[in-house]
Formats: sequence, structure tokens, C-alpha cells
Amino acid sequence: MKKVVVIGAGTMGNGIAHVFALYNYQVAWVDVSASALERGLATIDKNLDRQLKKGDIDEAKKAQTLANISTFTDITAAVAGAALVVEAATENIEIKLKIFENLDKICPAETILASNTSSISITRIAGVTKRPEKVIGMHFMNPVPVMKLVEVIRGYATSDEICAQIMDISKDLEKIPVEVNDYPGFVSNRVLMPMINEAIHALYEGVAGVSEIDTVMKLGMSHPMGPLQLADFIGLDVCRSILEVLFEGFGNPKYAPCPLLVNMVNAGHLGMKTGKGFYDWSNGTKNIAVAPRFAKKQLPTETF
Ligand code: NAD
Repeated sequence: MKKVVVIGAGTMGNGIAHVFALYNYQVAWVDVSASALERGLATIDKNLDRQLKKGDIDEAKKAQTLANISTFTDITAAVAGAALVVEAATENIEIKLKIFENLDKICPAETILASNTSSISITRIAGVTKRPEKVIGMHFMNPVPVMKLVEVIRGYATSDEICAQIMDISKDLEKIPVEVNDYPGFVSNRVLMPMINEAIHALYEGVAGVSEIDTVMKLGMSHPMGPLQLADFIGLDVCRSILEVLFEGFGNPKYAPCPLLVNMVNAGHLGMKTGKGFYDWSNGTKNIAVAPRFAKKQLPTETF
């Protein structure tokens, strides 16, 4: 299997296209936006330069990797002869269902259809196709070139054979795949998001400030970054929508997004990508951004 279609040229599509191309797959990279593809190629170029400087690759490998990628805004032209499609478009169920319904019509019958979704049910996505046994979750972690894990999600009807193939392809990319079943949030976000939400609740209730919460989790639990910084990194809008999927999927109020998180998303403070979240990222350094008046209880002023 050497031709892969990657759909979406945002944060994740970028990393996924980069890694497949680096490991000598022919990548047909699709986005509805030509400018997203242009920006994506520039990002891959920059990230390859970083690998070059570290001595992980040489100039020839960089050139070969870039040559392995072709870009498309027309999905029908991209899928010819593809053995695997990895969809990494916007996390929106309507968009994903439309993409998979169309892929099922235009792809050869043997093409495997994978989604990089963080939280949408693979079984639901598979349900709009006539090949549910060939639909699977291939959940890469951000940043894809660095993070080793691929969470491989088996939908209700995914076959053993397809699951084994995706595990093998992940290993081929020098990733470590872990197989999980399709329930809300899978394993990664079912465990991570309640922790992030609880950290936001602790801030909201005035238990401690941003840096105190993050420091406790970094130094006390050996987490490489605190949960509030991680939320800024993931995007607060993404955290909110994953919590909503967990809340709806399990019908359990423990997953309801904290009102402070909801307020911050409504205010457009989405974390690193907008320059402001729990921290202020606008001048390239990390400063505390959440003022005490946004918390439910007054916090000690020295915290901020
Ligand atoms: P993003 O918003 O950065 O990029 C999404 C891209 O999809 C955009 O370039 C958009 O133009 C494109 N797109 C939208 N509709 C399309 C369509 N119909 N056809 C082709 N392209 C289309 O999103 P992202 O953060 O890269 O997330 C992509 C997927 O990866 C989501 O399902 C998300 O849940 C998942 N994911 C995200 C992260 C993360 O940390 N951001 C981590 C793991 C998984």
C-alpha cells in the first residue's frame, strides 16, 4: 500500500501528510481551501527544516518527502488508486458524514476509509457508507511528527483484517498503535477531557490559580505540561466540543463543560491559536491571562 489520501490541511492534516510522505507513501492531500494547502506545505517545509537541523534527515530526504505530496481541491481527482483515505477535516459531524458518504461513492471498493476524529463515533460515520467493515478510526496525536501514539478505533462493524492493516501501517510510520473500541471519547479523550474540565472547575471555584494548578500537575504528577496549558494547546473550542460529545454520549452530567470554559469559548479566547486562553500567547511567551474576576470566587491576587 503506497498511495494515501489525506483530507484536511489544518493542524492535524499537516502532520499526517508530513509523516506519510516522510515514510515514502504517495500522499494526495485534499482541502476545500487552496490557501490552507499552501499554508500547509509551507508548514511541512518548515518542520522538515527542523528535522534537518537536528540531523534526523538529510537534504535528499527532505526533497523526497516534499516530492511525495500532491495537493488537490477536487476530491474525486485525488482518490484514484488510493488504498487508504485518512480524513482530518474540521471536527463537525455534518461535514464528516458528507465526506464519508461521498468517499464511499467515489473510492474503489477495497479502499480503507479512516478518520482522525477526536470524538465522533466511528460507527456513526461507518453507517453512512456501504463498507462499514472498512471504516476505522486512526487517531494521531498533535504534533503528529513527534507523538508516537496512534489510537486505532474499531467501529462496531470494523473487520479484524482492516484493524490489523491499520495497526501495521501505523508501525510502518514508526508509531505505536493501540486498539480501542468505539465509545464516546475513545480512551484518550475520555480520560484526558474530564481532567482538563476538573482543572478548569478548580480555577472557576477559586481553589487555586492557573499557574498553581498547572504546577501541581507538572511537578506532582510528572505531566510534561499542566492541564490548563494543554487545553490552550488543544484549543478551548475543541475541548468544549469533545466534552459535549461525552456529555451527550453517556448522558452523565459529570462531563458537562465547566461554565468558565463555555464563557471563554464564547468570548473567542480559544487558547494558543487565538493568542489568548488561560495564558496570553500573543507576545510569544506564556503569561497568565485569566483574570480573577472571571472565576466564581475571588482568588488571591498574587496568583495573577
Ligand atoms: P483544523 O480546523 O486545523 O483543520 C481542518 C481543515 O479541514 C481546514 O483546513 C478546512 O479547510 C478543512 N476542511 C473542512 N471541510 C472540508 C472538506 N469537506 N473537505 C476537505 N477539507 C475540509 O482542524 P484540526 O485541528 O486539524 O482537526 C482535524 C481533525 O483532527 C478533527 O477531526 C479533530 O478532532 C482531529 N484531531 C485534532 C487534534 C488537535 O490537537 N487539533 C488532535 C487529534 C485529532
